[in-house]
Amino acid sequence: MRAAVRTTCAYCGVGCGISATPTGEREVTIRGDEAHPANAGRLCSKGTHLGETVGLAGRLLHPMIGERRVKWDKALDLVAKRFRDTIARHGPDSVAFYVSGQLLTEDYYVANKLMKGFIGSANIDTNSRLCMSSAVAGHNRAFGEDVVPASYEDLDKADLVVLVGSNTAWCHPVVYQRIQAARAERGTKLVVIDPRRTETCEGADLHLPLRPGSDVALMNGLLAWLAEQGMVDKAFMESHVEVPEGFWEYIAAGHDLWTTAKTCDLNPALLLRFYELFAENPRTVTMFSQGINQSIRGTDQVNAIINVHLATGRIGQPGAAPFSITGQPNAMGGREVGGLASTLAAHMDFAPGNVARVGRFWAAPTMATKPGLKAVDMFRAIGEGRIKALWVMATNPAVSLPDAGNVRAALEKCPFVVVSDVIANTDTTAYADVRFPAAAWGEKDGTVTNSERMISRQRPFMALPGEAKPDWWIVKEVARRMGQGQGWGSAFAYDTPADIWREHARLTAYQNESRYGAARVLNLAACAAIGNPAYDAMEPFRWGGTPFADGVFSTPSGRARMLKVGQMDLQAPLADWPLTLNTGRYRDQWHTMTRTGLAPKLARHREEPMVEVHPADAAALELKEGDLARVSTPRGNSTFRVMLSDGQRPGEIFTPIHWTDQTSTGGRTGVLARPLVDPHSGQPGFKSTPAALARV
Ligand code: SF4
Repeated sequence: MRAAVRTTCAYCGVGCGISATPTGEREVTIRGDEAHPANAGRLCSKGTHLGETVGLAGRLLHPMIGERRVKWDKALDLVAKRFRDTIARHGPDSVAFYVSGQLLTEDYYVANKLMKGFIGSANIDTNSRLCMSSAVAGHNRAFGEDVVPASYEDLDKADLVVLVGSNTAWCHPVVYQRIQAARAERGTKLVVIDPRRTETCEGADLHLPLRPGSDVALMNGLLAWLAEQGMVDKAFMESHVEVPEGFWEYIAAGHDLWTTAKTCDLNPALLLRFYELFAENPRTVTMFSQGINQSIRGTDQVNAIINVHLATGRIGQPGAAPFSITGQPNAMGGREVGGLASTLAAHMDFAPGNVARVGRFWAAPTMATKPGLKAVDMFRAIGEGRIKALWVMATNPAVSLPDAGNVRAALEKCPFVVVSDVIANTDTTAYADVRFPAAAWGEKDGTVTNSERMISRQRPFMALPGEAKPDWWIVKEVARRMGQGQGWGSAFAYDTPADIWREHARLTAYQNESRYGAARVLNLAACAAIGNPAYDAMEPFRWGGTPFADGVFSTPSGRARMLKVGQMDLQAPLADWPLTLNTGRYRDQWHTMTRTGLAPKLARHREEPMVEVHPADAAALELKEGDLARVSTPRGNSTFRVMLSDGQRPGEIFTPIHWTDQTSTGGRTGVLARPLVDPHSGQPGFKSTPAALARV
C-alpha cells in the first residue's frame, strides 16, 4: 500500500479534502481529509464512493480523428490548422471554446489566455454559466467586483441560516452537515425558502414553499417590513451604501405583508414568522443556489437578497453575509482566471485599462477587447453558422444545455468540433471530428477554488492511462502549433502546472488596483514566489479574509449599491401547458453521470429518472405511482417514471438533470428547458418551464 495523497473531491463546490490511499494499480481507498478546513474529514455519498469510479471502463485513451486512432501530433496539428484556417477566413469570432467548472484552474488559465490574448476573441464560456453567473452579475452590480462575501466559518457563527433555492442536504451535503452541527451545538435557526419540500426542510424551523420565481417579491416584502419596524441600519447605510432615488418609497408601496403573501402564494402567518426570525437574529447568513441563479431574473433575485443584507448591515461581520454557493468543484477558479466570456482575468472586466494591462502582461498579439458569446448565445451562433469551429472541454452540452435538441442540431451543423474528455462516448463526443483523451480525477495535478474562495490542490495518485494528457498540456500544444512562426511558443512554454500557477498569481498581482483585490493580490503574489516543491506541498488557503469588514466596497465611491429590483410578472398557467416544470439534481448523481454512473452503490438511491407530481395533479391526470408519463414543454418531450410527492406544490412538477442517451431511453430534462436567459448574466432559467404531463 502506498502513502495517502491529499487531494480534493471531484464533484461539488463544497470542495472537500480527500485522503486517497492507492491500494493497487487503479484501486484506491477514499477517506475525508480531517485536516482540510472545508470538511474536517466529512464526506457525502458521492465523495465516499469515488474509489469505485477510477477504473478504465469507457475511458478515452487515445487521440481520435473520427473513429480512427491517431498519433498525438496528427490530432494536434489538425486542430491547430483548422482553427487557424477558420480564423484566417472568417475572423477570430468564428471560433469558440466551451469549457467547464470541472477543469482545474491551470487548465482554465491556459485556455483563457489562448482565446482572449492570442486568438483575439472572448468566445470562451463555461458550463459554470448555467450555475452561478447570476451571482457574479449580482456581486458586480452591488459590490463593484465579483466577491463572495462569506465563508463556511460564517455558517458556524450565524444565529440564523436562510437557505434560498437550495436543496443543500442533497446538493451540498457536507455544508448541510456543518449547518446541522451548528444547530446542534448552538441552536442556529434554519429557514428554507423553496417551492419544494425537500430533505433540506426536514427539521428546519420554517419552510416557505413560495410560488416559483417570486423571490424578489419576498425579499422586497421583508425589506418593507424591516423598514416599518425601524430595523434598517441607518448608520451603516449612511456610511457604506448608495441608495437609488425613490428606493424606500418604491419598497414601501405594494410590499406589505398581505400583498407579498399573495404574490408569493404563502400563508401570511408563515411569512410573518420569517420576518420576525430575520429581525431577531442579526447574525444571518442567506445562502442561495440554483433556485435563485437559474432564473430569467436571476440577477435581480441575487440583488434583492443582497439589498436586505446591506439595509441591515449584515455583511462584513462574522456570521452575517449573503452567500452564493457554487455547484461545481472549480467554478470559482474559473472566475479567478476569467473563464467566463464576460470576464477577462483576475475577476477583471473588459474596461480598456484592464484589456491593456492583461495584454501587456501576456505580451498578447491580439487581445479581445469586448465580451464574447455566453453559453446559450454561443450555441445559437453555432446553429446559425456564425461559429465554425468549436472546442468543448470536460463537459457535455448535448445533455446539459437548455433546448438540448437544438444544441445537438447545432453541433451536427458545426463544420469542426473538437472534444477533450475522459470518456470515449458521450452525447457530445458523438458530434466530434477530433477527440482528445484528457486526464481524469486522480491523474490531474493542479488547483481548485471552492465556494468560499478556498484554494486547494488536486493531486494525482494514479499514472496517466493510455495516451491521456492534462487539459493544460493539450491546449498549450495546440497554441504552440497555431502560433508557429509568430513567437507564441514562449507564451505557452509551460512544463508543469506549477509554472502556470505562478504566472496566474503574477497576473493577479500585476498592476491590479482593485480595492478588494488587494488581499487576493497579497495572497497570490506570495504564492507566485514559491517553487515547485512548495506548490506540491500547498496547504488549502482562503484568500480575501473577511470581505468588506472595513465597510469599503469596490465601487468608485467605495460604497455598496442597493438596486431597485422589481418582481417579474408571474404568468398564470397556459391552457396547453397547465403545469410548471422545475429541474434539479439527485443526491447521489452528478451532472450527466459519466463518473457517478460508474458507482453501482450510488444508483441505488434513485435508479431511474422520475417526474415528481403532487397527488392531486396525478389523480386529475389518472396517473399513479410507477406509471410512465410524458413531460411535454414548448421545446420538447421526454418520458419519466411517475413519483407521487406531496412535497411538490400542486401544479408543479420536478425532473432530474442527469440522464443521457448513454444511460436511458427517456428522462431527458435538457430537451425540455427553454433557451431563455437572464438579461444581465446570460444564465438560463431552468426552474420554471410551462409543461404538460400525460400517461404514455
Ligand atoms: Fe464531494 Fe461535494 Fe460531497 Fe464534499 S459535499 S464529498 S465536495 S460531492
